[in-house]
Amino acid sequence: MYDVVVIGGGPSGISASLYAKRANLEVLVLHNNESNVEQAHQIDNFYGFPGGITGKELYNKGIRQAEQLGIEVKKVQVVGVENLGKHFNVKTVKGNFETKTIIISTGNKKIKPNIPGIYEFEGKGISYCAICDAFFFRNKNVAVLGNGEFAISEANELSHIVKKVTILTNGLEAPNTEYEIIKKKIKQITGSTNVEKIEFEDGSNLEIDGVFIALGEAGASDFAKTLGLFQDGDNIKVNEKMETNINGIYACGNITGGLLQVCKAVYEGAIAGLSAIEYIREGRKEK
Ligand SMILES: Cc1cc2nc3c(=O)[nH]c(=O)nc-3n(C[C@H](O)[C@H](O)[C@H](O)COP(=O)(O)OP(=O)(O)OC[C@H]3O[C@@H](n4cnc5c(N)ncnc54)[C@H](O)[C@@H]3O)c2cc1C
Repeated sequence: MYDVVVIGGGPSGISASLYAKRANLEVLVLHNNESNVEQAHQIDNFYGFPGGITGKELYNKGIRQAEQLGIEVKKVQVVGVENLGKHFNVKTVKGNFETKTIIISTGNKKIKPNIPGIYEFEGKGISYCAICDAFFFRNKNVAVLGNGEFAISEANELSHIVKKVTILTNGLEAPNTEYEIIKKKIKQITGSTNVEKIEFEDGSNLEIDGVFIALGEAGASDFAKTLGLFQDGDNIKVNEKMETNINGIYACGNITGGLLQVCKAVYEGAIAGLSAIEYIREGRKEK
């Protein structure tokens, strides 16, 4: 029986695990698929890294830091979570783990459309985060691929910095917005080294310096739904102590919404870790 099982090995999960372990708790970190932070080609706005750091390096450093502290870290996919009344069961593809508390820090999945050019130009004109990368496109022409609230909010963020924003819906219904919208189906994204052009299926082209993918975030809401955690859209609802509506379950990082940045994930992880410590020390309380 663990004191804490952390689902997620990104900035928020590792931060939570460090606090819990340093309070002498039995901690297990489970991580698996590609995290948000690993998709970041270059992080230039996180404290302590002059010259920046790649997302992959930051992720690996986090895992190493946890392991060096003696935290058990397993690379395995979590497929379900059960509330057994007095404790929880975390189900993975390689077995189950019983625990007194769970910290959910699974980030949110980015939907990647199947358009030729997207993968090749990641970090070379294709971005998934306006607040992170807008600065690289100042005074340039960019497009936002998406048609929901998320796409509009990314466009708003970009509009303060770039020359022009065009919304591409790739055949989907157009959102209600004042930005120029192109609804045509995209054939491919091309360029020599960086993104230069979007080719549409009807043979027309759009010259562009960057494309921000904002197709909405498939939330990490599966666990929330199974457990009956309150949600706000795809995000898990927490209070200022990162407590969910179920005693002993905490959520932190991107899945709680708000600022989707490493600094906020690390902060919330620390709070979730401290709350789990308090809960274990006090014993299980009833809400
Ligand atoms: C392209 C890009 C560029 C970015 N640039 C910046 C930047 O410059 N500066 C900045 O501050 N932020 C940046 N961000 C945002 C930043 O990466 C996130 O805010 C941060 O990583 C969130 O941390 P997290 O711990 O909540 O989630 P994540 O980093 O997404 O970690 C989630 C963890 O959960 C695990 N997981 C998920 N599902 C399962 C499962 N079923 N079973 C087991 N494990 C699971 C994953 O393996 C991973 O370990 C960028 C994001 C992207 C996508």
